[in-house]
Amino acid sequence: MSKRKVAYFYDTDVGAYTYGLGHPMKPHRIRVTHDLVTAYGMLDKMHVFRPKRASPEVMSSFHTDEYVHFLQSVTPETAEKMTFSGTRFLVGEDNPAFEGVFEFCSISAGGSIGAAQRIASGAADIAINWAGGLHHAKKREASGFCYINDIVLGIIELLRTYPRVLYIDIDCHHGDGVEEAFYTNDRVMTCSFHKFGEYFPGTGTQEDKGRGRGKGYAVNVPFKDGITDESFRSVFEPVVSRILEVFRPSAVVLQCGADSLAGDKLGCFNLTMHGHSHCVQFLRKQNIPLILLGGGGYTVKNVARTWTYETACALGIENEIDPHLPWNDYFEWFGPRYRLEVPENNMEDVNVKDGSLNIVREKALEQLQQLDCAPSVQMQDVPRESVGKHLGFGKDELKARDDLDKKLALISEREPLAARAVPLVIRLRLPRRQRAVRQPTTALHLGEGEEADEPADGAVL
Ligand SMILES: [Zn+2]
Repeated sequence: MSKRKVAYFYDTDVGAYTYGLGHPMKPHRIRVTHDLVTAYGMLDKMHVFRPKRASPEVMSSFHTDEYVHFLQSVTPETAEKMTFSGTRFLVGEDNPAFEGVFEFCSISAGGSIGAAQRIASGAADIAINWAGGLHHAKKREASGFCYINDIVLGIIELLRTYPRVLYIDIDCHHGDGVEEAFYTNDRVMTCSFHKFGEYFPGTGTQEDKGRGRGKGYAVNVPFKDGITDESFRSVFEPVVSRILEVFRPSAVVLQCGADSLAGDKLGCFNLTMHGHSHCVQFLRKQNIPLILLGGGGYTVKNVARTWTYETACALGIENEIDPHLPWNDYFEWFGPRYRLEVPENNMEDVNVKDGSLNIVREKALEQLQQLDCAPSVQMQDVPRESVGKHLGFGKDELKARDDLDKKLALISEREPLAARAVPLVIRLRLPRRQRAVRQPTTALHLGEGEEADEPADGAVL
């Protein structure tokens, strides 16, 4: 199997945050995953980075200043009282103001932005951030366990270099936050495969296809309970293949939400580890720069197994690793079989039973049939305004636009390789003095035969 340069983003602190006792979202699962990845000896085969934490300025390239400021200052004690302009940002029990929530977000977002930079510079073919994938977060609101939308921030970073980005979401829940962010945009196609019908967040029908310039560029594939590997694949492959043909993305972001696995505490699908990972294998084969992100996933041992296996898929070593789990700190969690597997259960596949699988597939393919091939491929389609304004995130005044450019420039790739890859029109909008400001991501580990193109400061994970 051909080799790929893989970058892996992980912060040792991430597993220490907790949403509170009894909350289903457990950041600890990222640590368990990392432990398994380590035990399998995969760290030596990829570049391992501790991501630079995302600053409030960087987060504001998508989120409102007030919301970011709120997250920065909120504590469990002040959460109830704090409002901005009469708005409460954290509503309900899904998104508690837990201790360190802002730092947790800055790690998650920092990893996805770092992954995007690594891809855009050409230093990696595949970049992984299992702490990312928090797809429900909105511009000015937390939702569904997500506070800061690391995915949108990562895609904004990719758009500085690439004309078109494809976002694919295989979480059990609809990828509403990302869809909404790019709903009127034809440079980002979003495609979400999810459970629909009396299920959070309640959006994502096949009638929702995007608006204005973005019409047709939001694809929704709603499923019912119990979808199996075979059924999922029978829709995923033809739909994604058609998207690749007509949209011709220059980079792909895959949200690997693991609540679509069989036996998930909150999910209702019946995918095995292999069925889920098939999406990673399928996209790896396409030879398009790829970012793998985490997302949902509430049966921790299965999340860790699957993301470990998907890390192996990124490296192309999935057929070489031992299905018997190596000894690791959480070994006893994986009993009684202690294997790298998530088997299916005996749930009924409603999608096959009622014939909706075929209807949903045909409808999605029909939508794609109507699209023009590869939008924005001509130079004149590359935005003349700042990327932020083009996406509708910036304010209209010239000064605000300049500020936004500066913010985007702060997170842009400083490496000469990246500058070479930036299309001419976009490059002209980024004066050199602005591009030079960004701090480099700290390289913690360099794979064999790789040149040290980022400073390694000797820190060890
Ligand atoms: Zn989910």
